[in-house]
Amino acid sequence: LPRVRGAPRPRLLLQGQRRSGKSSISSVVFHKMPPTETLFLESTTRIQKEPVNTFMDFQVWDFPGQIDYNDGTFDLEAIFSDTGALIYVIDAQDEYLEALTRLHQTIITIQRFNPSINVEVFIHKVDGLSDDFKLDTQRDIVQRTTDELADLGFDSVHINYHLTSIYDHSIFEAFSKVIQKLLPELGTLENLLNGLVSNCRIEKAFLFDVLSKIYVATDSSPVDVQSYEICSDYIDVVLDMTEIYGYDRGDSSEVSTAEESKSSIGSTNAEDWTLPDQSSVMKLQNGMVLFLREINNGRFEHLGDATIGISRPNVYCTGEHWQRQHTGPTSPPYEVAFFSNQPLDGIRPGVIASSN
Ligand code: GDP
Repeated sequence: LPRVRGAPRPRLLLQGQRRSGKSSISSVVFHKMPPTETLFLESTTRIQKEPVNTFMDFQVWDFPGQIDYNDGTFDLEAIFSDTGALIYVIDAQDEYLEALTRLHQTIITIQRFNPSINVEVFIHKVDGLSDDFKLDTQRDIVQRTTDELADLGFDSVHINYHLTSIYDHSIFEAFSKVIQKLLPELGTLENLLNGLVSNCRIEKAFLFDVLSKIYVATDSSPVDVQSYEICSDYIDVVLDMTEIYGYDRGDSSEVSTAEESKSSIGSTNAEDWTLPDQSSVMKLQNGMVLFLREINNGRFEHLGDATIGISRPNVYCTGEHWQRQHTGPTSPPYEVAFFSNQPLDGIRPGVIASSN
């Protein structure tokens, strides 16, 4: 499934009414803004074409809420024809009937230009709502939308709904799901992760884009929110540590870097030496072990059939329960072995953690 380099980037459109939370979402997910700081964001007032530099290279187009499609100033064909997904944000803490009307208009407009677009509705700001109220709101929005589209003869449009908030991990999870659907390599990645998980006795594996904490793929066992949350918190910790203690590793292909390092580690053969990838292991008090391994640019190039243009460091983050077969806290449990019968490129067999 080789992706042709330079192929058009999958495009996402982020849309919704003014103050629904669009700028906050893109600031929190793609620019690491703390959620509380979004209170001071200026509301979106124009179309913003925002290139997002994760390995996906997609764009978020932040539409203002009050745009009228039919006033002739927009080239709708250009906007919609190569868009992979429309994310429509609805403020669940506010009156949403007008937002729904606009959503329905948008869906109908889009059908003319790109009927295969994925329509993703973010029922947003649900942090302030009780669980019951959240579900009632979702039911109501789904019902009204289904009825309205059916009345207008568009009953075959498939829409996905997500309950989201910038104050917890739900916004990252929702984005992960949206983006995964746009990845033609998803099946291959999933298979590779399945192989990794079963060969290495790992409980759950995620392929993360570390900068946004969106997970690009995971093995096919069900995702439980907690393991996603703990992995993404772990990435924060590692990134913070890296910011303080990290160093510029330069370009691994530069001979001078290799030469310098060669002398520092006393090797006589420069070809033996490659820059180490970033990796980290953490054992939690409950016995869970988290392992994070960077996959650099090019690492994935030759994994099976997949050629994926990963341009920034990405990591695996995996969890495995420490197997407790010991008699007490002083008697150590097993080491966690990380090995593979058929080594995946870039993932060397070996022991990743030991309690000793
Ligand atoms: P935009 O006009 O759609 O870009 O909306 P903004 O991003 O400017 O957000 C409007 C207000 O909603 C801001 O004060 C945000 O802090 C707030 N907001 C955004 N997302 C959330 C959320 O998930 N929960 C809560 N409680 N408030 C949010």
